[in-house]
Amino acid sequence: MRPPRSNGYRDAWCGELGAARVGETVRVAGWVHRRRDHGGLIFIDLRDRSGLLQLVFHPESAPEAHAAAERLRAEHVISASGQVVRREEGNVNPNLPTGEIELDVASVEALADSPTPPFPVDEDGPVDETLRLRHRMLDLRREGMRDAMVLRHVVVRAMREYLNSHDFLDLETPILTRSTPEGARDFLVPSRMNPGEFYALPQSPQLFKQLLMMSGYERYYQIARCFRDEDLRADRQPEFTQLDLEMSFVDEDDVIGVIEGLMARVFEDAGFPISAPPPWPRLTYDEAMLRYGSDKPDVRFGLELADLGGELAGTEFKVFAGVLASGGVVRALNAGAREVPRSELDALTEHVKRYGAGGLVWAFVQEDGSWRSPTAKFLTDEQRDAVTRKLSGRPGDLLLIVADTEHVAATALGELRLELARRFELVPEGRHDVVWVVDFPMFEWSETDKRWTAMHHPFTAPTGDFSDPGALRSRGYDIALDGVEIGGGSIRINRPEVQQQVFKVLGISEQEADARFGFLLDALRYGAPPHGGLALGLDRIVAILAGRDSIRDVIAFPKTASGSDPLTGAPAPVDGAQLAELGVKVTAPPRV
Ligand code: ASP
Repeated sequence: MRPPRSNGYRDAWCGELGAARVGETVRVAGWVHRRRDHGGLIFIDLRDRSGLLQLVFHPESAPEAHAAAERLRAEHVISASGQVVRREEGNVNPNLPTGEIELDVASVEALADSPTPPFPVDEDGPVDETLRLRHRMLDLRREGMRDAMVLRHVVVRAMREYLNSHDFLDLETPILTRSTPEGARDFLVPSRMNPGEFYALPQSPQLFKQLLMMSGYERYYQIARCFRDEDLRADRQPEFTQLDLEMSFVDEDDVIGVIEGLMARVFEDAGFPISAPPPWPRLTYDEAMLRYGSDKPDVRFGLELADLGGELAGTEFKVFAGVLASGGVVRALNAGAREVPRSELDALTEHVKRYGAGGLVWAFVQEDGSWRSPTAKFLTDEQRDAVTRKLSGRPGDLLLIVADTEHVAATALGELRLELARRFELVPEGRHDVVWVVDFPMFEWSETDKRWTAMHHPFTAPTGDFSDPGALRSRGYDIALDGVEIGGGSIRINRPEVQQQVFKVLGISEQEADARFGFLLDALRYGAPPHGGLALGLDRIVAILAGRDSIRDVIAFPKTASGSDPLTGAPAPVDGAQLAELGVKVTAPPRV
């Protein structure tokens, strides 16, 4: 940090003083981090945003300051001045950047008191999360949170600087708007001036950024807040932040190239040891699902999946034969040479069942090439050997097989692969990999709703023939870091008739399309350039860079898993008059 402007409170940052300043008189300000009374000398670690500085109060040389220090407690706010002195040999603290020196305090001014905080601010130990969120202002004082917030800033700064220097315009789009379909539920805001009508909060700036391209702005970005009313899972928040961007007259390589340059810069500025510089590998969706059972594959370790259709063709084993005959697949992975007791095999079986698989076939390859497996007797020696060969099985290896629909087999084995990596610690320490996934299907069939849904969103450009929606591909691309999807985007539709065709497959009638997206269709008619873009999930990226499991730990003021904010008490009931003014009647019973 630059030196602060000298005023009555401070002329130096605590954390930036060092041996070079010995002998100088300085004034610092901040919070009492910790206080130690040695029955003569009093030591205080003073904290400001830059770090910690040890203050020492001598009863003889500075009796007034010493008396004032006796009354100070954790989290009191003070300003103190004195001389920077070298610590005595035995008192040097090599773990603290300012550990060689201390401030010999001549005078101190108490600026604000504090009761004992509900949890210690001077350590980063575990504290109940609701308590942390209830007192977030104190939680944010803790070192871990401070580091996360600073890192978040470093990431945003890197993004902005990179894009600013690549001719992107930083433009805002509305928060009060109409539904923007990203596939989630909308948050609605009642309109007082138009009773019975509602704004929707944007699930993303998707349509506005496309309109900006149609308006000729060429390159846009925004650190954008997005709102999605979803049931919250561990890594979700009702409002979250994206780096959103869009470009005109581009193809996939242009957008991917910008993002690679930008992410490389983010990794560099954040000091994150990415294992390879860009360009990063691109996997097609089909390949990712086949090899990793995931559209956001974690490629940091092996255990790739293989299809056994060829090896098991004509099998008489009923389970496999039945699945293959009904258009399903048999897929497997080689878990390697491991001692896995029966109980653990049962746990792994439970794991695949959670992802819809009927069961898990296991087999240990023995010295003579035969299998120790309840299934061995149902396969011919040739089939068994072919499977072993396909999986590069060697004596001792554990082979794990799932027979099911393609989606279930891939997903269950993909999840099993991740579970094995956790159990056997297969991710090499310090390894971090980015991959792109491209060539997605345009539509997915929803069994529950009995209709097609867009795999990215309905504005993604399709390739192929509309006569078979299931075979259409999209010009979408996703980026994954260490098996976490950190962003996604696409080249968009820029012709109104194609947009209409997509709406049609999605079951959106012409009238409905006109009512909901008339403005977009209109814009598409007035000369829309080819365009495309992408959005990166800022919270997730920062969480990975900070090594945190939860995005709540990298958001200054997040919500709990039930969508509430213990700090402000939001959401909260409003009074009747306010509701009446909005023309809103509440029928749900109040939350207790
Ligand atoms: N709007 C998309 C999303 O939020 C990203 C994009 O297609 O640019 O996922």
